[in-house]
Amino acid sequence: MGDDVNPDRDDLPLRANTSHILVRHYVLDLDIHFHTQVITGTLVLFLEPGPGAGEGAWAGEGPGAGEGDLYTAQPSKTADSWEDESNGDFTLVLDCCDLAVSKVEELDVASVLDLLGLLEEVRGEESVVEPQPGSQSAVLIQRLISLPATQWKKQHHLYSQCSRAPASESGRPLVFHTDRWSLQVRHRGTRTPQEFPRALRICYETKPEGGSVRWTKDQDNRSCVYTAGSPINNRALFPCQEPPVAMSTWQARVRAPRGCVVLLSGENQAEPTHLQETGLCSWDYYVTMPMPASTFTLAVGSWSLVPTAQQTALFGAPHSHTGSLDLPFAASPQFMFERSALKDEKHFESGCTVSGENNVSCCHVDYPCRFTEASAWSQRIIPHRVFAPPSLVPKAQFQILPLLPRCLAAAHATLGVHPFPRLDILIVPAGFSSLGMASPHIIFLSQSVLCGERDGVGGVQPGLSLCGSRLCHELSHSWFGLAIGARDWTEEWISEGFATYLEDVIWARAQQLSRTETDEQSKLKALLRWRRLSEELQNSEDQLQILRPNMESTGQVSESGSSFVKHALNPEKNFMQVHYLKGYFLLRFLASKVEDERFLSFFKLFVMKYHGQLILSQDFLQMLLETFPDKERQGLTLEAIHADWLDRPGIPKWLFEGSAAWTQTRLVEEVKAEPVSPFLSLPQSVSFTHRNGAYICCCDDLVCSVVSEVVKWIGLNQSVGRGRKRKRARPKVNLDRVVTPEQLVLLLELLLEEAELSVTSLCTIQRTYNLQEQDAEVRHRWCELVVKHKHTEAYHDVEHFLQHDQAMGVYLYGELMVHEDARQQALARHCLSLLQDEMDQSARRVVEEMVL
Ligand SMILES: [Zn+2]
Repeated sequence: MGDDVNPDRDDLPLRANTSHILVRHYVLDLDIHFHTQVITGTLVLFLEPGPGAGEGAWAGEGPGAGEGDLYTAQPSKTADSWEDESNGDFTLVLDCCDLAVSKVEELDVASVLDLLGLLEEVRGEESVVEPQPGSQSAVLIQRLISLPATQWKKQHHLYSQCSRAPASESGRPLVFHTDRWSLQVRHRGTRTPQEFPRALRICYETKPEGGSVRWTKDQDNRSCVYTAGSPINNRALFPCQEPPVAMSTWQARVRAPRGCVVLLSGENQAEPTHLQETGLCSWDYYVTMPMPASTFTLAVGSWSLVPTAQQTALFGAPHSHTGSLDLPFAASPQFMFERSALKDEKHFESGCTVSGENNVSCCHVDYPCRFTEASAWSQRIIPHRVFAPPSLVPKAQFQILPLLPRCLAAAHATLGVHPFPRLDILIVPAGFSSLGMASPHIIFLSQSVLCGERDGVGGVQPGLSLCGSRLCHELSHSWFGLAIGARDWTEEWISEGFATYLEDVIWARAQQLSRTETDEQSKLKALLRWRRLSEELQNSEDQLQILRPNMESTGQVSESGSSFVKHALNPEKNFMQVHYLKGYFLLRFLASKVEDERFLSFFKLFVMKYHGQLILSQDFLQMLLETFPDKERQGLTLEAIHADWLDRPGIPKWLFEGSAAWTQTRLVEEVKAEPVSPFLSLPQSVSFTHRNGAYICCCDDLVCSVVSEVVKWIGLNQSVGRGRKRKRARPKVNLDRVVTPEQLVLLLELLLEEAELSVTSLCTIQRTYNLQEQDAEVRHRWCELVVKHKHTEAYHDVEHFLQHDQAMGVYLYGELMVHEDARQQALARHCLSLLQDEMDQSARRVVEEMVL
């Protein structure tokens, strides 16, 4: 450490000195100003000396000042003098960028009468209290921070009161300094973290260009702002300690124009308070479970609460719907949910020894944990709300609302207690760069997970699968990613690999699929993911393919607690799925060793032990090997898993061998070359027979059905090419056989491997599968086909996709440019010029590089 970080480099610095001092609670008080695109406010920090506070090494280990402004009571000084003048004083380092800090002050908490009550308690049990080198204030704050979980209400009340305390008049002044990545604060003459003030107020404002929040318009052209899931996390929203080890609780009060909804990572469902004098509304949220500051999420906009089918008026409805199961569920029969089945816990609990609250012994720090509440264990569906811009309310109502209780119940059945007591879902603006993002109590979903224009009544919902599986993916993050976090953010697979694996499990349960259907679905998804992974591995740098980039030094930090996240700022990384997919295949590999049911039961055990804590890869693997000790004898060791899966780029051996069937396949080629021979290279031994000019698959396997369809299309295309009568070329496709969106994706991907497809073929394919009505994954493949074959008649489909599915469109820009076709390039430029203002920053940068 110590080197000044070049913001153009790939690694994200985490400079907060969390070994010396820890933020235990944040109180935010913010005003949202849409006209200036600025958030102004105050942040109050409650601090406690960290685990390394007694070592006395802080004075020498300056965090290294970069360019920046110096604010003190005195005239401004240069960065050099900031370093020089420390005189051995302790420096509090917070992660921060693009914030204008105007004041940092110590709070006079001794003036808070209610807090003094704690001092009485302190006197009452004097022997319990550690001798404090600091002032009475330090004793008070320590006592406040240490209140037991059962007294969280009192604790939050006192935090709130303290946050409004006046600045301390007496004592030495605080000085502060900002550079590119940090805010540094000193207290003149204070040498140690123990003596450092325990309650600070920081007055600041955000900058419109700050990367943590996005100011944009929603789909109805109204202003909104949200935390963007940026690689720099929340440090351009408020100064904070970013290293995940700094877990804290928070309270936030946010004022916004009336008519806006303020959504925030808070466990309470806040109701707005109208402020007469300003015409604004104020919203209060809090959490009692300590979490990394990076998980804090905020969204403010004119969104509507999506009413359930029974509710007639927006906002006139009850605010807590616990997912009535009586909702009409307008989907294909396969999604029909039996009420009785939902209630049948036995179906879900099979093989799991952990159930009920009896076995719970929490290993995390003290907080009011749902895992210890009997009522939480029986709550399969937590209270939830869905918000969307008014124009998308009907789609959200018919697509997301009916799915949500089913997915929540299936997640509960798979993983146990919901770690969070409630959930809001927001359909984010079109410029959001991903299909979804999970935060405590909030999930952002892209409009791309919603399907076509039809309202879904009475027909098959072609897009429901994308919506449902994405929802299940984000729900999985409540357990893997949030309740159990990564100690080292470079080990991204711990959340993304798990969520990708679990989305299949949970979504299959939500649909009540049979065992066979589940297996088939999972095989098809594995094949699609394998194709995606092998393509990405061929087209990315080795360094970006390693699941545990820090290898044996994973989780290690500098003496002060600072560290950095490898590759986190590399814009390319945002569009890669290697960690999702390799992590997913690692879990499939482990499941194959242990067998699926036992593997999933183990997930519950793991959650029981590690919820509320941060983990490294080895924590999971170690516990797995201990739980199934016979596996170690069969060669499954920590070292082997590290070597094959986590610490090297490329394709792990098992995956390479196991997928040989798929890789060698060239599925279609083989059928063409030798149509009547056994089709051995498919995952299952499947044979095709040649009958009446059509290849008939002899099994109902989802993959085989696709392959036989593809072969038909290719035959059709060739016969058209040879000038046969078009009549004969009429496809006899059997729509019953390619029914799922995943099948269509595979079908189009296989067709993409064809060098030539005629205009007639393309038009027929589009009509046959009604491609415009399909989900975004399917339409994306269709657009690739259109671009590849310069199918000008369907360029409007490409343009529509780039505009409405920005979370997925980045790759298409590259395709449009690569063929050196003037019309395609003009199309790319046209879309970029239309969208550049609403595009996500990193997406925009990547696209501009390709297009301009
Ligand atoms: Zn717990």
